[in-house]
Parts: sequence; C-alpha cells; structure tokens
Amino acid sequence: MNHDETFETVESLNAELVSLTRELWENPELGLHETASAELLSSVLRDAGFEITEGIGGMPTAFSATYGNGEPHIGILGEYDALPGLSQEVSATRDPVERGDPGHGCGHNLFGVAGVGAALAMKRAIDDGRATGTVTFFGCPAEEILVGKVFMARDGAFDDLDAALTWHPSHLSAPFMAQTLAMNSVEYNFTGESAHAADSPQSGRSALDAVELLNTGAEFMREHVSDDARIHYTIPDGGGAPNVVPAEATAWYYVRAPTRAEVDRITDWLDDVAEGAAMMTQTTVERQFHTGCYDYVANDTLSEKLLENMRLAGPIPYTDDDREFAAELQETLSQETIEARTAQLPEGPREEARQSVLYPDAQPSYDVGTVLNGSTDVGDVSWITPTAQFWAASWPVGTPSHTWQAVASNGSFGAKAAVYAAKVLAATTLDLCNDDDLLAEARNEFEETVPNEYETALPEGTEPPFHLTL
Ligand SMILES: [Zn+2]
Repeated sequence: MNHDETFETVESLNAELVSLTRELWENPELGLHETASAELLSSVLRDAGFEITEGIGGMPTAFSATYGNGEPHIGILGEYDALPGLSQEVSATRDPVERGDPGHGCGHNLFGVAGVGAALAMKRAIDDGRATGTVTFFGCPAEEILVGKVFMARDGAFDDLDAALTWHPSHLSAPFMAQTLAMNSVEYNFTGESAHAADSPQSGRSALDAVELLNTGAEFMREHVSDDARIHYTIPDGGGAPNVVPAEATAWYYVRAPTRAEVDRITDWLDDVAEGAAMMTQTTVERQFHTGCYDYVANDTLSEKLLENMRLAGPIPYTDDDREFAAELQETLSQETIEARTAQLPEGPREEARQSVLYPDAQPSYDVGTVLNGSTDVGDVSWITPTAQFWAASWPVGTPSHTWQAVASNGSFGAKAAVYAAKVLAATTLDLCNDDDLLAEARNEFEETVPNEYETALPEGTEPPFHLTL
C-alpha cells in the first residue's frame, strides 16, 4: 500500500514531535511517578479530539486516548518512564545534569512520542476517509519495573483490541521478534527481635540471618531449575548498625523463565525457602508480590508488515552532524561491546553495521526464534491480542540500553528515530484498518501461537507498587 500521505502527515508534525521528545527528556520521571510526562502526552491527544481515560489499573499516570468508530480497533502502546541515576547532558563524556537524578536511558522519551505521532496521523486518515475503525493510544507507565501494562491488562484495557503495535529505541532497525522471559517481582520482608548484638544477642532474632539463609537456599535451588531461568536478588534493607540485631530485613527477587508456569513453580519453591529461613531463625516472613508479567509472543504476520513499512519509511535521515556526535559517543564503547551487540546479525549486515556509526537501514528480524534474556510487559498484551513491535536505530551501533551514551542520544539525534517510528506505526495501523485479510491472518496466527486465555499473574488484591523507584 502507498503510504506517502501518511508519511507526509507525520512529517508535518515533525517539529512538534521532536519538541515533545525534548520536553520529556528534560524532565525525566521514574515509573508510576511520570505525572508531567503522562499529562504532556495526554493533553496533546485531548486537544486533538481524542477521548481520554485516565487512572487505568489504579495508576494515575496510565491513560488511553481513543479516536474513531467501530471496527477494527487497533492499539498503539507508548511508554515514558525514566531510569534512576542516569542523568546525563547531551555530551560525549559522562556528564550528569544533576548527579543521582533519573535519565532517559531506555529512550522512553522517544517511545511514547512516536505513538502519539502515529495516533495523530491516524486521526487525519480517519477524518479524510482513508481509514475506518478506531485507534487507541495507550499511555503505559512504569515499564522499567514491569508494572504498567500488567495492571492495565488486569483492568481489561486491551480486551477490545484487534491488534496492538509498538516499537523500542535501539542501535539497529529490525522487527523485534525474540521471545522474552516471563517474570515475577517479589519482596520477602522478615521480622525478628532487636537486641544489643554484643551484650544480649540471646534476646535477639536476626531478620538479616533469615535473608542470608533465603539467599543461600536460592543459590542451591539454582542448580535444579532450567538453564533458561534467571533468579536475581538485592537486599534493600539489611539492618542498620552492626551492634543492633536487625529486627527488619528485606530481600527483593526477580524470577524469570521462558514460561509463566515455570516462573510460578520457581516462585512457589522460593516461598518455601523463605518460610524455611524464617523457621530456622525464629523470625516471621511476609511476602509482597510487586508484579508478574508474561513472556512476549511476536505475531509474525504483523512483524512482516512492520518490516515492509520500515523499508517504505526509511532509512532515518541522519545528517553528518548527527554522525559526528554519534561517532564521539561510539568511541567511548569498547570494541568487545560493539561486537557482542552486533553478533546476531547475518554476516553482510554485521560487517556493514560494525563499520557504521549509525545504521538505520531496516533489517529482517535478527532475533526471531531466540530468547532475549530480559522481560517486557508488552508480553502481557501479546497474550491478549495479536501484537508486533520493532527496534529503530536511535543510538550509535553497539550502544547498550540503560547507559549514559543512550541518554545523550535520546536527547539529540534520537528524536529522528521517533519521527520515523511514528511513520511506521501509522502506516501499519492504516494497513490493519483497511485490510481485513491481514487482520484475519494475524488473528489465525495468534490463535495458534497463544492457545490459552490470558489470566493475570497478579494474586488477587495486588496493588501497583508505588513505593518502588527502580
Ligand atoms: Zn525500554
């Protein structure tokens, strides 16, 4: 399908979209606290005539913005949360704006804006009679702590969709087709008895001992779970001064595995280990379940359509100035990092990418059939409706996410990737609105690859974890 008109619409919004990416970048907000960011994006869509629903899933920074009528109903997902401690100037050396402050190290300042751009372009297409149906932009908070879409999904936010599309900033451009790991985020809070650790230790019961025994138990458990599983923990509270037996201590766990069933099995075992640790130390334990997400299942039919439109819309028009700054950033990466990050590409593009500073040419998926050892809450959406997403080259080749180099890129030339992503998302949404066969094919594939009905991983009564800042 010819998408010139759609691309022109997005191009006419170029300056507005770039300035939105900057505004979000200059005011980075952590997950579930993205008040100004959510307001900025929802106000743009409200002003354009979209119907806004706020507070989805009990989260004040979650919203949806809907335009159009009837079927099909296509969802576009956007995020806008930042990461702690990654404050960084647009500069080629590590240079925080304010040391310790958050920064946009995952490019979510680009991510949400591209979705808004696509939604605005779809409104124009609907108004002009070039598309029929309904489009909803979902403002999804707190992806970094894998919370937003999980609680929105429990609220039924995605139930009416015929398909959902999204993207993610990266250092290469290709459909994102890897499976991701399902996960649970759980905190174990132990309570003991404080006492003077030297004078009267016999009166104390150490909650920290319990945490250490839990962690030791988890290390022994590790041998008996599948190689693909990942178990990691921190001790957010390990007590205070050494001369006080810690009465309170906490361990925070992420459990990940390729399937929900396996994540649940490992978590149940970990619960038993925590009970055992409490028994051994004569303390008590309470479990706080923060969130639990699904593995991601890419819809191949939709992913292929995304690639087609990526080729039509691209490559991203980076200038010599962009390449110059990108080269300075790339010089701060080790050769090993660049090689590891490009290893999955087929030989030809791999060599081309390794010799490039920016490599925005769309590639066929290089991660199809692989498991990405991370998690995303897009996984939950992919178990509810046919879902596809793509990577777009927003950073110098080899740049890992969650780095200061990514923050610097996201505050400068990365904005061009957001405009590009808006074009790809709008064109693909338009295709879905106008091509019943495409939608039917995506639906058939979905029914084959996702046979079970979606059921939230959240135990009943779980509230969004507003106290988390990671
Ligand atoms: Zn991200």
